[in-house]
Amino acid sequence: MSRPNIDWTTLGFSYLRTDLRFLSHWRDGAWDEGVLTGDNCLHISEGSAALHYGQQCFEGLKAYRCRDGSVNLFRPDRNAARLQRSCARLLMPTIPTERFLDACRQVVLANLDYLPPYGSGGALYLRPFVIGVGDNLGVHSAPEFLFSVFCVPVGAYFKGGLTPTNFVVSRYDRAAPNGTGAAKVGGNYAASLLPGREARERGFGDCIYLDPETHTRIEEVGSANFFGITRDGHFVTPRSPSILPGVTRDSLLSLARERLGLEVEERDVFVDRLDEFVEAGACGTAAVITPIGGIQNGDRFHVFHSETEVGPVTRRLYDELTGIQSGDVEAPGGWIVKVE
Ligand SMILES: *Cc1c(COP(=O)(O)O)cnc(C)c1O
Repeated sequence: MSRPNIDWTTLGFSYLRTDLRFLSHWRDGAWDEGVLTGDNCLHISEGSAALHYGQQCFEGLKAYRCRDGSVNLFRPDRNAARLQRSCARLLMPTIPTERFLDACRQVVLANLDYLPPYGSGGALYLRPFVIGVGDNLGVHSAPEFLFSVFCVPVGAYFKGGLTPTNFVVSRYDRAAPNGTGAAKVGGNYAASLLPGREARERGFGDCIYLDPETHTRIEEVGSANFFGITRDGHFVTPRSPSILPGVTRDSLLSLARERLGLEVEERDVFVDRLDEFVEAGACGTAAVITPIGGIQNGDRFHVFHSETEVGPVTRRLYDELTGIQSGDVEAPGGWIVKVE
């Protein structure tokens, strides 16, 4: 296979076919060994439950090139555990953590030519997923399953990196109160495509989803988690059973408390009380930390720190997080798993 000719500085977040991906098949009660394959297409039954009934879930994590040439995975055990919870919610067989980590390692090592260099700001995004396949018609769990991990080199998800982005409060819900909001499943994303397009057509980066029960509390920022910094310097992030429990969100909660010495709060964030925050951001593996410039809610537009400049606390959180991921800042115990 020929070495890819990639301009690392202009990478966005879009699909690029890399050399090899991991593929494992579940049949008769067990996962097979799995193989690395050069084929980026799946051959599955037209009756696959993933196609008709949304029986599928996925993960997203990144591999980072360090200054010394080694490769870091950031808290991949958290992604393994979340994939297990998503699979369980959709009646799919789970992937043991060791098997998940091993598949991620294999895929990174097989595609090292695609790993953006240290200092480029890019990373190798890993996309593990599990889908229900096999001949089926009725609404029930699939007879067979596939677990795959592919990878794509990526830059920043929201163009502009640490430049603030504006968001608009959506009139749609992304998940039901006791539905699948806390599972990383495709169905939630299918529901978010139209609201996302409407937000972008109006010039916003994405939309803000409120809690589906009362429509008064902020839950998510597109496909990232919300956080705010209060006037008295507290780090606040919403708590709700329909929020996707992000690894980045969880890491920022810990870094805000342990490294920045901030008080942290997981609690309701009311959309009509945004002036309690002097900074706000969206966080996730793809988004990393994207400062929120302002939020449009009906005919009101609320600006946090600034529409053009990142706030000081958001900047410190970003530096701490990305420093740990690329190995420049000492990581809390167990957060970094070396690939090589
Ligand atoms: C994946 C995801 C996030 C971010 O989770 P990370 O583990 O930080 O990448 C946030 N919200 C939604 C809806 C997601 O699907």
